[in-house]
Amino acid sequence: MTYVIAEPCVDVLDRSCVDACPVDCIYEGGRMAFIQPEECVDCGACVQVCPVEAIYYEDDLPEEWATYTAFNAAFFTGVGAPGGSVNLPKGTVPDLAEVTALPPRPAED
Ligand code: SF4
Ligand code: SF4
Repeated sequence: MTYVIAEPCVDVLDRSCVDACPVDCIYEGGRMAFIQPEECVDCGACVQVCPVEAIYYEDDLPEEWATYTAFNAAFFTGVGAPGGSVNLPKGTVPDLAEVTALPPRPAED
């Protein structure tokens, strides 16, 4: 089991969780962040700091975002467990096609 980042992160990507994670296992794609499931230690520190409630324990992920468990894992296909986001800077791995295809999030008024 692990924590998972879901759709509310798309186009927000403010890095609060990246800075809060004690093991640096949250990595930035182009439009959202992803948790490396093998590196996550299930501490829950990221959940409280996310301003848009995008992070859930895998078992508690809302049904509408169930595919994001696989999205988070699939982001790391080819790079495995890099050992910290410092080793995989933003833009090194592109977003999944499913994320790239999402419509832009409307700007807040
Ligand atoms: S649950 Fe803890 S270890 Fe896992 S991604 Fe969040 S802050 Fe990092
Ligand atoms: S804190 Fe939330 S919105 Fe910000 S990068 Fe992390 S998951 Fe995305």
